[in-house]
Amino acid sequence: MKENVKKLIDRLAAENRLEREEYLTLIENSGEEEREYLASLARAEREKHYGKDVYIRGLIEISNICKNDCYYCGIRASNKNCDRYRLTENDILECCDEGYALGFRTFVMQGGEDGHFTDEVMASILRKIKSRYPDCAVTLSLGERTRESYRRLKAAGADRYLLRHETATESHYGKLHPPSLTWANRMRCLTDLRELGYQVGCGFMVGSPYQTAEMLADELVFIEKFKPDMCGIGPFIPHKDTEFRDMPHGSVDLTCMLLSCIRLIHPTVLLPATTALGSLEQDGRERGILAGANVVMPNLSPASVRKKYMLYDNKLSDGAESAQAKSSLEERMNSIGYRIAVSRGDAIISNKLRSN
Ligand code: SAH
Repeated sequence: MKENVKKLIDRLAAENRLEREEYLTLIENSGEEEREYLASLARAEREKHYGKDVYIRGLIEISNICKNDCYYCGIRASNKNCDRYRLTENDILECCDEGYALGFRTFVMQGGEDGHFTDEVMASILRKIKSRYPDCAVTLSLGERTRESYRRLKAAGADRYLLRHETATESHYGKLHPPSLTWANRMRCLTDLRELGYQVGCGFMVGSPYQTAEMLADELVFIEKFKPDMCGIGPFIPHKDTEFRDMPHGSVDLTCMLLSCIRLIHPTVLLPATTALGSLEQDGRERGILAGANVVMPNLSPASVRKKYMLYDNKLSDGAESAQAKSSLEERMNSIGYRIAVSRGDAIISNKLRSN
């Protein structure tokens, strides 16, 4: 093992931080052996706080209608080949019924920025889910909204919000999005969500077009400063109907290495082994768990729409709707020494922080 890299890894584990240049060294100079060592420390840290439990979230993709035109995304407004759909309130409640019976205690409603889902429409859905399943947490992932909107959704019962910042580098954000979308507004949303008392998730794509190793070092500095309750990272995967169609996909190895770094920077963070990881490699999610992740988010969307929420080519759409699929996920986790927990799986640090 490279002695200088090993020293950095040991310091990261002991102090939960490194200098930006040191993160860069880690990213650029760690080989297989160093990354396995890093992962072993990340697993140990994860097990200290969460044991062998893997938290599951039932992902309900409520709409692929979107007013935005993010250059990387398959459901962007200008994609004429996208077959659009929107779930009804009833569809969504049925997904929750099915999910609850399977042991899900968190439901994540994700979608494009679809104007149909006003605060009133969302509040009604939230109230119904919370009254039917008071023991469940509800996460929203519906993009950028006003502070007032976030406040209303919180008041109607939303517990958590996932909004990936996509990149910590403002100029890079401009290369991934049209001018109507700004990094400053994305950050404003994250700040508002936190101030309103949500458990907040941010995140970024690994290997997105024009990303450099320096930018990845800045991602780690950002995580260190922002300390999100959750952090979703996954490899960028091109979509055939976007201008990034010919760009290479991000690396599974590098994603796993960054998952390990994030676990050591922020030991109690909720860290999903993302669908994108599982889409690039058959055992991608298992590899994510072994790198320090502790969450998986199987799809609870109705089978009829699952293939339509195509953020990128070949997105995994195996679903968790059948007891069979759920038990196969269980088997996969058991085979690497972990187990699925039936619980809300809250972030263990956020409450402590909040009471300070
Ligand atoms: N409208 C919501 C949900 C977006 S989809 C929002 O704005 O937050 C959820 C995430 O999928 C995005 O934040 C993005 O990081 C990821 N994603 C989109 N296109 C992708 C692609 N081509 N490859 C990998 N991840 C992608």
